[in-house]
Amino acid sequence: MKKRKLLMIPGPIEFEPEVLRAMSLTTTSHVAPNFIETFGHCLELLKNIFEAPNGQPFVIAGSGTLAMDMAAANLIETGEKVLVISTGYFGGRFNDIFKRYGASTTVLRASIGESVDLAQIENVLKTDQFKALAMTHVDTSTGILADAQSIAELANKYGALSVLDGVCSVAGERMEQENWGIDIVLTGSQKAIGVPPGLALLMASKRAIEVWKKRKNPVPNYYADWANWLPIMQAYEERRPSYFGTPSVNLIYALEVSLQSIIEEGMVQRAQRHKKLADAFRRGITAIGLKLMPKTEEVAANTLSAIYFPEDIDGGLLRKKIMESDVIIAGGLLPEIKNKYFRVGHMGAVSANDLLAVLGALERVLLELGHCFEAGRSMAVFQDTILNWPESSLA
Ligand code: PMP
Repeated sequence: MKKRKLLMIPGPIEFEPEVLRAMSLTTTSHVAPNFIETFGHCLELLKNIFEAPNGQPFVIAGSGTLAMDMAAANLIETGEKVLVISTGYFGGRFNDIFKRYGASTTVLRASIGESVDLAQIENVLKTDQFKALAMTHVDTSTGILADAQSIAELANKYGALSVLDGVCSVAGERMEQENWGIDIVLTGSQKAIGVPPGLALLMASKRAIEVWKKRKNPVPNYYADWANWLPIMQAYEERRPSYFGTPSVNLIYALEVSLQSIIEEGMVQRAQRHKKLADAFRRGITAIGLKLMPKTEEVAANTLSAIYFPEDIDGGLLRKKIMESDVIIAGGLLPEIKNKYFRVGHMGAVSANDLLAVLGALERVLLELGHCFEAGRSMAVFQDTILNWPESSLA
């Protein structure tokens, strides 16, 4: 009997053996020449992955929330206005963080299963001058994908800086930071980036750095202050030793391995793989009568799916039994409907086989619990979608 379970939650994901092997390399000094080379190389690779050749990368020990904290702390001064586009739980978190730094926030909250309407965003931007607009590319609590490109365009049109929480999207969904004109994109290591939890990754545009340089007051957060980290990032990129806070040496070795494999796959191809698998999975799920949280394909994330429990089924029991079938899925996260749905992550190195295993376990448990549907249907639809995927139409 296998002792290993298949981890299919929306982060942390399953990591590739070569990434985990890099974690076990001998820890060197943070100023050892080989480590400086690795760190510098990671910063260069990140510019490719974020598609921000002129961006300023930051790699800091911490989780994705630290990257959100860093964005708000460095950009915002007390009393400045921020428009938060919220498509779930993490939009709420971003709002809390901006408020903590004294921002006066306006929140545009999407209805469950939807994104915020572009016309509505434009109307608000017209009525007031915002210093920044914050949005979540994929909200992990709802599986909603925001149209980051169009929203950033609106922010630019009305002179607001744009900040994208890409924790559940970067290296999974298409994201072209510089072409789309986004000032800050941030993520954590444990999702589509494919490295165990512990690294906060952030890319700032030239304009974001200029705005930060013109601050009237010091950044009210010592650890997140770019004044402490910018010289360090510049030094690593120029392959010079430097120190502010000890970097996560082994995580950075692992980061280099994972970023290289992401680049080898290609950003467009990688997003296509995510889209194809997600589409096949969604079709499989709906083919057996289950309902997805996103109301349309357009707003459905390709890195995870949020799925309602069928009404005749005890959700807690279903999750427990799937877990006993050696597949780990996540419960709900949005407080108002927390017990009504579950989430399946499908990002990073995820394969069609992994998703077939999820569908297989889900079907088996649903049948055991007496839910009515044609056995095998979700898997047949999944396979059919994969086999007939129009590769050429994806570019
Ligand atoms: N934003 C989004 C969209 C997320 O999915 C998460 C983590 N689930 C976070 C922010 C916070 O990241 P972390 O848990 O790494 O602090």
